[in-house]
Amino acid sequence: MIDVYTLFSGSSGNCVYVKNDDTEILIDAGRSCGAIEKSLSALGTSLRRIKAIFVTHEHSDHTQGLEVISKKFQIPVYMTSPSYHNYVRGGSYLQRMAISCEIEKEKDIGSLNIKSFPIPHDSAQNVGYVISSRDDTFGIATDIGHPTEIIADNLSKCKRIIIESNHDIEMVEKGPYPRFLKDRILSQSGHLSNDKCAQLCAYLCDKGVCGITLAHLSQENNLPKLAYGQVREHLNACGFENVPLKVAFADITVNVTNEYSYPYPMLHIGK
Ligand SMILES: [Zn+2]
Ligand SMILES: [Zn+2]
Repeated sequence: MIDVYTLFSGSSGNCVYVKNDDTEILIDAGRSCGAIEKSLSALGTSLRRIKAIFVTHEHSDHTQGLEVISKKFQIPVYMTSPSYHNYVRGGSYLQRMAISCEIEKEKDIGSLNIKSFPIPHDSAQNVGYVISSRDDTFGIATDIGHPTEIIADNLSKCKRIIIESNHDIEMVEKGPYPRFLKDRILSQSGHLSNDKCAQLCAYLCDKGVCGITLAHLSQENNLPKLAYGQVREHLNACGFENVPLKVAFADITVNVTNEYSYPYPMLHIGK
């Protein structure tokens, strides 16, 4: 069984902790080294036990902690080649730890197998990951400009997924952002809206996905209950009322009392 915890989720930082019996890794390190270490210690672990960090893309909300973590903990950091060349600076501590890799090439870390797949977004490159162990498969996809067959194919292989439900379109349109920023969010290389997420989730449930956590919610243009409500309603209408749905904490270390925010691990089939 793979346990997954969203330590941080959203525009203020993203970091997902993944573990099975013998291996612990992170997806992204978009908060400070200290904040990530604090969140891991709340779960009874530490950066010292993390075997590798897999980066989705080079935006700061996914990479902010990498330099200090590389300096203090010397953890291998796997990035796609375009993100590596865009982000890694010569002479940095990160340069010593960063490993540039090809998309869709599988990597084994302990007994976890990690494979990336491309996601359209306005970064040098963005990827999601499918993480497998002997008896479990888990997928993550955030910062999704628009749904693609490749995203759907990869996530449909997973039992459980973390998927972006970034914004409510009306909140973006009526909100305070300048027009260029609204256009960026709503563009084909921006972020995934709640309703597009709902459609993709229903498609994935039809393919066998049986646990969903919504993530990377915009603080300004979304609410956990809106994202949850739109996706839950659509899943129910499609006959998937039994599929567990959760919304990731923005920060696992803050005592969030919102009824729609849950920590991982997600439910397994039959639980
Ligand atoms: Zn991004
Ligand atoms: Zn992001």
